[in-house]
Amino acid sequence: MKVVIIGAVACGTRAACRLKRLRPDAEIIMIDKDDFISYGACLLPYYLTGDIFNIDEIRTTSFRAIRDAEFFKNCKGVITLTKTLAEEIDRQKKVVKVKYLENNKTEEIPYDKLVLATGAVPKVPLFPGVDLEGVFTLSNAYNAKKIREKLEEGKVENVVIIGAGFIGLEILEAFTEAWGVSVTVLEYFPQVLPRLIDPFLSRIVENNLRKKGIKLILNARIKEIVGENRKVKGVKTEDNFYPADLIILATGVRPNNELAKKAGLLVSPFTGGIVVNERLQTSDPDIYAGGDCIEVIHILTGKKILMPQGSLANKQGRIIATNIAGGYARFKGTVGSFILKCYDMSIGGCGLSYGVACSEGFDAMYAINVQHERAHIFSYGGSYYSLIFDKKTNKVLGFQSIGPFTDGTLARLHAIASILPYKPSVEDLVELELAYSPPFNTALDPINITAHIAENLIYGRFKPIEWDEVLNRLKNEDPNLLVIDVRTPEEFRPMKDKYPNWINVPYNEIRSKIKTFPKDKDLVIVCSLGARSYEVSRIFYHEGYERVYIPMGGVSLVSAWGEDIK
Ligand SMILES: Cc1cc2nc3c(=O)[nH]c(=O)nc-3n(C[C@H](O)[C@H](O)[C@H](O)COP(=O)(O)OP(=O)(O)OC[C@H]3O[C@@H](n4cnc5c(N)ncnc54)[C@H](O)[C@@H]3O)c2cc1C
Repeated sequence: MKVVIIGAVACGTRAACRLKRLRPDAEIIMIDKDDFISYGACLLPYYLTGDIFNIDEIRTTSFRAIRDAEFFKNCKGVITLTKTLAEEIDRQKKVVKVKYLENNKTEEIPYDKLVLATGAVPKVPLFPGVDLEGVFTLSNAYNAKKIREKLEEGKVENVVIIGAGFIGLEILEAFTEAWGVSVTVLEYFPQVLPRLIDPFLSRIVENNLRKKGIKLILNARIKEIVGENRKVKGVKTEDNFYPADLIILATGVRPNNELAKKAGLLVSPFTGGIVVNERLQTSDPDIYAGGDCIEVIHILTGKKILMPQGSLANKQGRIIATNIAGGYARFKGTVGSFILKCYDMSIGGCGLSYGVACSEGFDAMYAINVQHERAHIFSYGGSYYSLIFDKKTNKVLGFQSIGPFTDGTLARLHAIASILPYKPSVEDLVELELAYSPPFNTALDPINITAHIAENLIYGRFKPIEWDEVLNRLKNEDPNLLVIDVRTPEEFRPMKDKYPNWINVPYNEIRSKIKTFPKDKDLVIVCSLGARSYEVSRIFYHEGYERVYIPMGGVSLVSAWGEDIK
């Protein structure tokens, strides 16, 4: 069996090596237009920080061998043609037409089975100036090298990053901490990580970035990248100019589908991804495709989406190998799990954000939980959790978390992502049995507690109110509002001077004073995290008060947004 694989980074190399293990008799040829192959693109941000000194470290094995063409030939028995461009696929003749980029010679390479692992290409915005010297994408190792060389020259003072998505946020630390340059982030949407996390969490990230000295401009409308003598000088938006000697376009990627289109394979007109079945066969059963170049099913919506993640590319490479070797393996879809490190924050999520769930037609609701991720004496800081669920079915739709740079966020994310394909309910999360020891978590894990809050919402045990509404009404001194802060005097800074409608009545005095509160006002109960507010609200409801509300996440949430409430 002769198998040709186009693309030799994540999906392609995973498919090649597993196939050779399953079918040692198979002749496998990998083709890549680059000669820097089989590397961890996910490590590129850490090459920029300097944590990785030499670029070769992103393509070494755990036993320090460099994964180049020689390595694949000698260790894996896979022939690798680098600096070789696959120009065309002739499906009738079953050949790939290639051009050797070093001498421009062409050749036809026959195949029995073909794998497309051609990845993605950066989405380059259409505004003028994107081709100026000093404008980069961080799409591959070559660009990462060029960016670091430029930083090493010591002439970069101002960096503008266009896009506050996954990659935009991951690389900030490199510029400010490792290289001490000033950074402006221009984001089109009104929040960072748009569609990935909801504003009640993104505002925590935004506040942290501003505290780190990042100039973060949301709702940015870029007109052009301005240059002088072909060198970049800055970015002009509708209302401002941001000087820059280095610009990173972190504006997303699109599937690299050119070869597939040319070969007449089915490519989605909506996503641009190559269409595959569960076994990752394209519309031609002898041609498989995987990684960033394909579209995949979102398990919760049933819709086809793009999910360009190294985790999936590797998984899909393995599935392709199993199927080509004669086995039966399926890729059933994605639940959209992601995690990233941004300075000292871990930010992760799976499933649908609240905003996306609503736009997908779900009757969605969310619960917010703020707590230490482990017993407070072992805590590295507060964590913020949000559980999105469907009000009609109580099914979990999504989960998001921000926490300190520990494994806590990942642990919760993994637990939920691993059961999400089985459509768990909020009750299932309440019942989830999770191991406990104080250095790791709390007796009821944050997942359980977040689910308790969701369950209390479902059963109407408390009435939520948005913090934004509370803040607006406080600022406008709404006479129908009274905020009752039940924290103890040691915990709070009196807010009465700032907001006349804000009173402090410590938690332990509520029962004795319960008859003294007005019944004709909206009473908003706040505490540090939310637990005491809930308990106090139950006392009020029991006493016949109906207009009693809780802003989820307590004062900790709004103060993490940067509001002057302590
Ligand atoms: C900075 C950065 C950080 C990231 N961080 C994460 C992370 O933390 N977690 C995560 O899960 N994912 C992350 N990713 C995404 C992850 O790297 C990709 O999902 C993964 O590399 C996709 O693998 P792939 O094999 O599909 O394609 P690619 O890695 O894009 O490889 C495709 C290869 O195909 C070659 N090729 C394409 N067309 C041809 C042709 N016609 N002829 C010959 N060769 C061709 C290309 O040269 C390329 O080498 C990150 C990506 C970047 C850029």
